[in-house]
Amino acid sequence: MSLRRFFINPTDITGKTAQLTGTEAHHIRSVLRLAPGDPIIFFDGTGTRYQARIEQILKDRVTATIINHTQDLLPKVRIHLGQALLKGQKMDLILQKATELGVDAIWPFYSEHGIHKPQRDTQMERWQRIVLEACKQCDRARPPEIHDTREVTDLLAHPPPCDTKLIFWEHETRQTLNEVLAGQERDCNSVFFLLGPEGGFSAAEVAYAQQAGFTPVSLGPRILRAETATLAATAILQFTLGNLNPATPENQEKNPCAPLSKG
Ligand code: SAM
Repeated sequence: MSLRRFFINPTDITGKTAQLTGTEAHHIRSVLRLAPGDPIIFFDGTGTRYQARIEQILKDRVTATIINHTQDLLPKVRIHLGQALLKGQKMDLILQKATELGVDAIWPFYSEHGIHKPQRDTQMERWQRIVLEACKQCDRARPPEIHDTREVTDLLAHPPPCDTKLIFWEHETRQTLNEVLAGQERDCNSVFFLLGPEGGFSAAEVAYAQQAGFTPVSLGPRILRAETATLAATAILQFTLGNLNPATPENQEKNPCAPLSKG
């Protein structure tokens, strides 16, 4: 059975001792009923993964001794997903799948034909929980950054620094994704790609995106549901950029967990 993975706040690690508290400690104690001596893995959200051994299981916390730790290397090409807000649970699905597929950062945005409900304060906390749970499941030590929701026009005007900017548009007929990526392969270290809402991008948004240096690309002749398009675009980009290869040092950048470029 693969080792159980838990999230720990970096401040709860002192030297070789870690103290897990809250829901993680409850999970260890009351759900999994682990015992002192059991091996566990935890990660602190900065890309470090710790192998540890449980020492004590107390009422309010679990203490563990760290045996060793490794750093998650960064992918050679980092991808930032700009996602129009979607209705209902679809955003939760996107956050979970984007985490599993290795997206570096997620930039939610409001758009003309998308929902404009202002985000509840608890929204970001809930989204963070979703991506942390996805990290635990897929053994990813560094969660994607989730940025505050902005207007698409603001995001187009001030995108995160990226070498390649794409807008996925169902009415694009001239160029295909692989043509665009083939042209950039050599010196592309980061891609920012936008996916629209259920109602699609407006013509004005697409025109503005092009003026701002975004290349419209197609995912083929069929109109995909918003969540299908995001998953397909992410998987194709990650495959084409080599980020679905086994995580060996040759396939990845040497500087583990360099801070993300701030948009
Ligand atoms: N406005 C579309 C319509 O005619 O019904 C629907 C938009 S689609 C549901 C949601 C988003 O998925 C689009 O804004 C686009 O970003 C992406 N998408 C869907 N199909 C696509 C395709 N064939 N090529 C590129 N992007 C696509």
